[in-house]
Amino acid sequence: MHIAMAASEAIPFAKTGGLADVCGTLPIQLSRNGHTCYLFLPAYASAKRSARNIVDTHISFVVDMAGKPMTAHILKTHLPDSSVEVFLIDQPLYFDRESLYSDANGDYRDNCERFAFFSKAVVEAIHRLHLNIDIIHCHDWQTGLIPAYHRVGFHDFSWYRQAASVMTIHNLAYQGRFWGADMPLTSLDWQYFNWQQMEFYGDLNMLKTGIAFADLITTVSPSYAREIQQPSDGCGLDGVLRAKSNRLMGIVNGVDYSVWDPTHDPHIAQRYSNEDWQLGKRACKQDLQSSMQLPIRADVPLIGLVGRLAEQKGWGLVIPLMERWVDHRDVQWVILGNGEARYAQALESLARKRPDRVAVRLEFSDLWAHKIEAGCDLFLMPSRYEPCGLNQLYRLRYGSVPVVHATGGLIDTVCPTTDVSLREGLATGFSFTGYDLESLENCLSKAIDLYSHSPNEWSKLVHAGMNQDWSWSRSADMMVVAYQRARELAAIEGRL
Ligand code: ADP
Repeated sequence: MHIAMAASEAIPFAKTGGLADVCGTLPIQLSRNGHTCYLFLPAYASAKRSARNIVDTHISFVVDMAGKPMTAHILKTHLPDSSVEVFLIDQPLYFDRESLYSDANGDYRDNCERFAFFSKAVVEAIHRLHLNIDIIHCHDWQTGLIPAYHRVGFHDFSWYRQAASVMTIHNLAYQGRFWGADMPLTSLDWQYFNWQQMEFYGDLNMLKTGIAFADLITTVSPSYAREIQQPSDGCGLDGVLRAKSNRLMGIVNGVDYSVWDPTHDPHIAQRYSNEDWQLGKRACKQDLQSSMQLPIRADVPLIGLVGRLAEQKGWGLVIPLMERWVDHRDVQWVILGNGEARYAQALESLARKRPDRVAVRLEFSDLWAHKIEAGCDLFLMPSRYEPCGLNQLYRLRYGSVPVVHATGGLIDTVCPTTDVSLREGLATGFSFTGYDLESLENCLSKAIDLYSHSPNEWSKLVHAGMNQDWSWSRSADMMVVAYQRARELAAIEGRL
């Protein structure tokens, strides 16, 4: 198949979260499986800096932005070590900024304009590059207008009649919701501004647009696909999603084990496999403790957390638990995260209070993420909701036992410890169901007990986790099934 992907981030060019991991690795896996994949990204300052061998395609065209002509210029590069061509849509006024979506003052005020421009430029670039594609695959709200352009025939490019569209929801909470008066920026007729298509309580909703117009919708785990059709987790779009339930699939993301595997990770103190994990982890734990200025002790349980400092990730439970434990429980915490100031301040104050127990790094750092994966014993991920989650998948491979809230992709990827699952060698972590402090505390205490008093059982848990295979090969095959289904649905409706 020939697939064009459009996304607002992809490693190694631009990353704020798991979306970038997915969009930088899925195309490579698809191309290894014999498909041809093209990736479209905004030409952010960071992308232009990190891309090797950027080539000018000499293709430029004007995009109308509500009467304002803006030039799109197409640059070309590749995903590293692959044949996947990456097209960067260059318009310095929109994308030559240090951050992707926001700065210290909050979200950029022109985000609607920036990503409407990007979406219009992508559909025209596919036409001008003469790409013969079977699928246009869009990721998250930033590309939600593309399925609408495709479906309603905006400019009526010929590739529309050969391709079906797929929209992937990585996180339903981020919808790209802007005031209705921004509608002219989309260049779409006001007739589509209705409650079934683009309008959401008087506002323009870019993700809803993608859901309404795509031939097929995927999200990043089967459990999340079910949850988002419920009023409690549907972020106001559960009705739209229920109406499309026969076009909605949940496919768990894969892991790029060329980057996330302790057998060849260049960032960690000692490499290890499931044969010698005890030796390797001891060295990595020591290295982590020493570089974080924590007392170097092999016996103390070391709990790691890596993630955005956002309410979704469960900081509203973690911080009260740390405050409750910090003077009484002999455990160490290592935390890497950036985001909301209220959580950053609370974490800093805990680290100041007990520097012997709490180490915090408030930054985005790949290096530290790898060191923490390898150096901690337990990894806490009490997300309030979690579409898929990649960190717990990395942890499994690094033998850092995940302790998670039973939600979304965490249900689908972590097998909780019970007497039976442990005996059968199936257990890979711990999970709790009630989203409250007591449930988290009980679950983490149970995990620490097993770690401290039952080394043989613990070892079984680590082995089971390290043996799991969450590589992209399986997920990419399922994605191809989704592509085929999208084409069937479009054909039934007479559009292919
Ligand atoms: P989300 O996409 O919701 O942020 P995921 O678990 O799916 O959560 O993916 C998060 C990705 O971002 C992982 O690769 C994780 O290692 C990385 N990450 C998050 N915060 C940081 C940070 N402060 N420093 C380095 N990497 C981070």
